[in-house]
Amino acid sequence: MPKVSKFLFLLSFFSALFLSNAQNETYSNPVKNQVSDTSFVNLSDYSSDFIYDMKYATEDNFLKAKVYDCAECMLRLKTVKALIAANKEFLKKGYRIKLYDCYRPLDIQKKMWEIVSNPKYVADPKKGSIHNRGGAVDISLVDADGKEVDMGTPFDFFGIEAGHNFKQLSKEILSKRAYLKTIMIKNGFNSFDSEWWHYNLKTGLKDKVSNEKWSCP
Ligand SMILES: [Zn+2]
Repeated sequence: MPKVSKFLFLLSFFSALFLSNAQNETYSNPVKNQVSDTSFVNLSDYSSDFIYDMKYATEDNFLKAKVYDCAECMLRLKTVKALIAANKEFLKKGYRIKLYDCYRPLDIQKKMWEIVSNPKYVADPKKGSIHNRGGAVDISLVDADGKEVDMGTPFDFFGIEAGHNFKQLSKEILSKRAYLKTIMIKNGFNSFDSEWWHYNLKTGLKDKVSNEKWSCP
């Protein structure tokens, strides 16, 4: 082999070796590998297809108090995966999920309980809710124009009208609630009778209550 081609041959051999190593490195990213299904992750790191309206990071909620320092949607990874799968189905029909609340650290649950100590409206922190376990989401749908779908009542409306069994609503509203429920159940969630917006991941009911916090920018 002439000297120049031998050099080129070796060069391509080594660059191929280098490239394949570089690719292997990306696939075996050690940080990603440490994330288990029950790890807490930020939904926005896994998908940019959601709309956020994190009510408890503002005063626009039934507590009239801002209880989160910043608006982040943290959930256990398995909840994120199921939520992304559900959102993909909604997107096919021109809708997407809007989030009102996700994981809620136990300290925040205690803070809410101090403001409203009534188990009808706030889960007792001694028991903890699925929100404290990273397996619950409060959601609605927005249409292709970004307009929130009419679900009959606002989020955190405390009355029988917010329940799945309340049927004195327009056909349109009832079908939208049913649509949300069908897709969520299909993707591993349970609905909650008295709140059309609340969904629990079925495999997340027994996870530990957590007080893990997220850092704000
Ligand atoms: Zn909820």
